[in-house]
Amino acid sequence: MARSKRLARVGRECVACGTCMKVCPRAAIRVVSGVVARVNGELCIGCGKCAGVCPADVIAMVERGSGE
Ligand code: SF4
Ligand code: SF4
Repeated sequence: MARSKRLARVGRECVACGTCMKVCPRAAIRVVSGVVARVNGELCIGCGKCAGVCPADVIAMVERGSGE
């Protein structure tokens, strides 16, 4: 699969609630050590579902190559 143009980026204000993990169709976002969610850029297809459900609104969709 070709890489998407966008990917999700999680801000430091993440409260590790895990909501984003439940909606990701690619299992590309995971809460690490119960502290913060991390995005696997190889798996993320840039669909934006995680950003849409994050209760803390800390997920931004960014262009690849822009400091990902
Ligand atoms: S939904 Fe938002 S606050 Fe919750 S783990 Fe994911 S990025 Fe963090
Ligand atoms: S943008 Fe889509 S594929 Fe990427 S981490 Fe969020 S839900 Fe998963």
